[in-house]
Amino acid sequence: MKTTIYYFTGTGNSLKIAKNLSEKLEECELVPIAKVWEDFHLASSSEKVGFIFPLYYAGLPKIVYDFLSKIELAKSNYFFAVITNAGDINNTPLQQIETILNTKSKTLSAGFFILMPNNYIIGYDIHSEARQKEFFEEANKKIDNIHKTIEKNENNLGNDFFEKRRIKSEKFNKSFRDSVYESDKSFYAKDSCTSCGICVNVCPVNNIVLVEDIPQWQHKCQQCLACINFCPEKCIQFGDKTLKTQRYHHPEITVKDLINQKN
Ligand code: SF4
Ligand code: SF4
Repeated sequence: MKTTIYYFTGTGNSLKIAKNLSEKLEECELVPIAKVWEDFHLASSSEKVGFIFPLYYAGLPKIVYDFLSKIELAKSNYFFAVITNAGDINNTPLQQIETILNTKSKTLSAGFFILMPNNYIIGYDIHSEARQKEFFEEANKKIDNIHKTIEKNENNLGNDFFEKRRIKSEKFNKSFRDSVYESDKSFYAKDSCTSCGICVNVCPVNNIVLVEDIPQWQHKCQQCLACINFCPEKCIQFGDKTLKTQRYHHPEITVKDLINQKN
C-alpha cells in the first residue's frame, strides 16, 4: 500500500475527512486506531502514513497518543496529520506528533487543521445546520489542497515549526490524558432509555455495558462523546452540562460506521 491513514473518530467528523481524503489518494487504505491500538505488534509498511483525529484539550486524544507511541514506522518515510477541531488551535498536537516521531528517528512532513462542526456538547452547544454546511464546504476545499501536498511529498511545516519547538499546551493536554478514563463518572442515562444498546455499540473502546438494561460506564473513557451524541433518545447526560445542549454527529456517518471502527 502506498499510503495508510490511521484515524480516530467519535462523532464522524474525522472519519468523513479520512474517507474523502483516502478516495483522492492513490492506493490508500484506512485503518481505525480503535481497532488496532491494543495489538501486541503494531507496524506500518506503507511509504506514506497519515494520522487523522480530533483535537482534544489542545492536543492529542489519549488513544492517539498511546497508539503513536507504540506503532513501529521504520519502513515509512512521509508522515502527515490532519486534525479536526471546532476552534482554538495551536501547533501543540503537531509538535506532540513530531516529538513522538523523533523517538523513532522520523519526522513529520505535513500538518493540517480542518474546522468542523462542534460535537463537544459538554462544553458548548452545536452549530446551526446552515453553519455546519459551511464547515463541510470549506473542508472539501481544504481536502483538495491537502491531497495535492501529500501527492507531491511536500513539507508544509516551515523552519519555525522545527526551530522554535515549544509545546505550549502539553501540560494541559497531559492532565487531560491522565484523567480521561475516569471522566465518564458524569455520564448517566435518564429513564427514557429504551436499552437499545446503541451507546454500547458505538463506543470505540467498549466502555459501556448494559447492567439490568441500564448503561453503565466502565472508567476507560476516551471522551469521544459518541455515546451521548448518537443516543437516539437523547437520554444520556453529562452532569447538568448537557441538559440544554443539542446532539451532533456528522450527517453522513452512521452507527454502522462507528461499529466498524472497532470490529
Ligand atoms: S443509546 Fe440511549 S436509549 Fe439506547 S441504550 Fe444507550 S442510553 Fe439507552
Ligand atoms: S463512553 Fe462514550 S465518550 Fe467515553 S469513549 Fe465510549 S463513546 Fe466515547
